[in-house]
Amino acid sequence: MKVHVREIVLKTRNRLELVDITHRVEEIVAESGVKNGLCLVFAPHATAAIIANEHEYGLIEDILKKVSEEFPHNGKWKHNRIDDNASAHLASAFLGAERTFPVVNGRLVRGTWQNIFLLELDGPRPIRRIIVEVIGE
Ligand code: ZN
Repeated sequence: MKVHVREIVLKTRNRLELVDITHRVEEIVAESGVKNGLCLVFAPHATAAIIANEHEYGLIEDILKKVSEEFPHNGKWKHNRIDDNASAHLASAFLGAERTFPVVNGRLVRGTWQNIFLLELDGPRPIRRIIVEVIGE
């Protein structure tokens, strides 16, 4: 079994932001040499999430709006007594910091309208890391 691990490092520019990482994840799958297996995309951050959905300008705005509505930045969250980012922790906890994709015949399997995004919830940040681990044969 092959195990191929790489890290994507990027910076974010806004408090809430979607960064499309599809191309970089697919490059890592291609270079892994894995034909059939799984690709884990994991953000080792408590205030970010990984999602898969359509890269369409309006939808991106809709997703960020929905996150703001569900997890309002100025909500009366207890964590805000020691830090200013409870909404980011909550969104990350509920949305999840990882997604797993099948790898079949050397390619990551996703829907036509399923791009892979880092969802920044507490930006801007100079460094956000995403671990991409491809395992299989
Ligand atoms: Zn915090």
